[in-house]
Order: sequence, then C-alpha cells, then structure tokens
Amino acid sequence: MTLHTGRHFLQIPGPTNVPDRVLRAIDMPTLDHRGAEFAVLGHDVLAAVQRVFRTKQPVIIYPSSGTGAWEAAIVNTLSPGDKVLMSETGQFAALWLGIANKFRLDVDMLPTDWRHGAPLDLIEERLKADREHKIKAVMVVHNETSTSCVTHPLEVRKILDRTKHPALLMVDTISGLASLEYEHDAWGIDVSIAGSQKGMMLPPGLGFNAVSEKALAVSKANTSTRSYWDWHDMIAINKQGTFPYTPATNLLYGLKVAVAMLEEEGLENVWARHKRHGAATRAAVKAWGLEPVCQDPQAYSPALTAVMVPQGHDADAFRKVVLDNFDMSLGTGLGKIKGKAFRIGHLGHFNDLMLMGTLAGVEMGLDLAKVPHRTGGVAAAMEVLKGRDVVAMPKAAVA
Ligand SMILES: *Cc1c(COP(=O)(O)O)cnc(C)c1O
Repeated sequence: MTLHTGRHFLQIPGPTNVPDRVLRAIDMPTLDHRGAEFAVLGHDVLAAVQRVFRTKQPVIIYPSSGTGAWEAAIVNTLSPGDKVLMSETGQFAALWLGIANKFRLDVDMLPTDWRHGAPLDLIEERLKADREHKIKAVMVVHNETSTSCVTHPLEVRKILDRTKHPALLMVDTISGLASLEYEHDAWGIDVSIAGSQKGMMLPPGLGFNAVSEKALAVSKANTSTRSYWDWHDMIAINKQGTFPYTPATNLLYGLKVAVAMLEEEGLENVWARHKRHGAATRAAVKAWGLEPVCQDPQAYSPALTAVMVPQGHDADAFRKVVLDNFDMSLGTGLGKIKGKAFRIGHLGHFNDLMLMGTLAGVEMGLDLAKVPHRTGGVAAAMEVLKGRDVVAMPKAAVA
C-alpha cells in the first residue's frame, strides 16, 4: 500500500464526494423513528425532495440503492406479461432490462451503439404502430452513466403526446437528479427514479420514486404481488411524517442538509455549474486528442465524461496508474466498453479547482501510463473555466 497524504479524489460518477456539512449532520444519535421529533424531520425531508424533483406529487424515499428504486417502479405499476419499451443506451439500461426480465415483462429493447441517447425516432415509430395501446410504459435512462450520453425526458414526453399514447413515462434519473435540469411535473414524468449517492451528494443508501397521479392510479389497479416496495403503504404513513418500516434515519439527517445546500446555491445554478464543468472537461479531452464515448454533442452529459482510450491500451491499467500515483479513483468502463473507456465524474459536491486537480491527475496519468495523447488538456479546461472559450465553442458543447 502506498501512503497518501491529503484527500482522496473520488472522481467516479457516483458515489460522489460527500460535503463535510452532510457528514456532520449524519454523525448524530439515531432518533426514535416513531416519535414526534422524527415526524418533524420526516415532513421536512419529504417536502425537500419534492422540491428537488420539482413536483407537488408524492416522492417515496426507500432505504435502498438505486436498483431497489428501479424495482419499485416496476412492481408498483406493471405485471408479468405487460409490454414495455426500453432503449439499450448502455450498461445501466441493460441492468434495468435485467430486472424487467426477472419480473417477466414483455420488453421491446431498442438497440443503440452505446454512444448515443435513446433512439427517439424508433420510440415514435413503435408508439405510432401500437394502435391497441399494448405498451404500458416507456422506460428511459436520463443520464446513462456508463456512456455519458443524455436522453432528454421531455423529448420522450413530446413523442407520447404527439402519438396520443397513454403509456407511463418512467425515467431513471439516478445520476441526473440534482446535476442535470429536471422537472418531474412540468415534463409530465410518471415515475422518476433516483438515488442518494450521485448529484444528491449523500452516501449510498436512499432510493427515490417520484410518482404522478396517473402512475398512482395505475398502481392501485395493478394486482401483482409487492410488499416492501408498495407506494400506497408508504404514502399513507408518510402523511404523518413517518415510515411503515425503519427508515435510514441518519441518511435523512444528511438529506435535509444536502437539499439545503442545493437550495442555497439554487437548483438552476447547480445545473449551470455541472454544464460548465462538463464543457471544461470535454475541452480537455479534445486537447488531449482523445475521443469522448458519447458521439452526439446534443447528448453530452454535464455530470460525467466517458473517454475512449486508443486501441491497444487498457483503460483499467491507466486508472490503476492514476490511483497509485495520485490517489484518484476514476470510473471504470462498464459492460462492453470495459477496458476501452474510463469515466471522469464531475458531479455533486464539486468546484473549479477540484476539476483542475482531477484533469491534472488524468493528464499526468496518461503520460505515466504511456497512453498516446497531446498535452494541454488542463490548459484548455482552464480557458473554459475562465469564461474565455465558452463563446467560441459550438453551442451544443456548452448547452
Ligand atoms: C448508479 C446508477 C444506477 C444504480 O444505482 P445503485 O445505487 O448502484 O443500485 C442505476 N442507473 C443509473 C443511471 C446510475 O447512474
């Protein structure tokens, strides 16, 4: 083991760096979750997460990973044999498919090359062709964390509206919420799925479902088996500020402070900060002469950047050099791009100098690992952060 000084750089795209303020808030005695003091906290955090999702409709908070929140969305609204439309945008879409298959949904999985967002034209084609409205849900990953390609949920909503299709719109925004612009109500999302450990700046352990009135009605009529994940049990008891089973009390202390921090900055400013850091990171990648995994500038993620390494080089060997030498964790390539790509997380509790440190670590690591590249990535990113290059860049790259 190498001795490292200073702070570890956790630049994977989730779990992300947890602010000291949040850590302090969590480090408190656990409360009686059936007591009056807890109910005050319960009401507070339930209202707080509604503001982050931008919804007046219920948000369910589970003591779970994001995967649990995925499953919750499925078991509440769908039954075995139900037809759903999904898009294989990357590894996270593929994992969600795995759950859908286990619940024996009839999935129409639209393929992609893992370098673009969901194929909107194919979604429209499928919905148009489905005159009998057999498709019960359209399920998309907002920020595909394996490829750094975004699918804009509003575009999918517009397709459902254009085709007058009644399917539910389910969006995995696990790595999108509190990093990318998100509007659960205004965009007509039926089920939004999120987790605590990405843009929300918390440790892992909370899963979220924001649900529309329409999704609630569908789930009421859905007779398939569920217990732990049942929305209705949860919503009934949440009215008193409490939970049907022991919640992750200490994470809720952290949640309250994390939302306060997001609101002190202002959600719009949080979104703008992530866009700016995305633009600076891509300027560095371009200067290095490396290729982003995402090939559609309209779909570039503000939350992370996945980068291809040149043929014949191993992205994980490069990541090990960075970890050993500079105590920085970068994200591994997932699924079919394992070894071919690495991921730079720039989401959550983050600032300009943390990004500069991150990019300096990448640039020095590329050199030490002998990955062919040009120098000057850090300098290019600095120009963006100084605001000089932003106007000169193509609109989509900073949008
Ligand atoms: C992290 C992530 C998940 C999985 O969440 P877990 O908490 O690991 O279960 C799912 N989807 C996306 C887009 C993610 O980024």
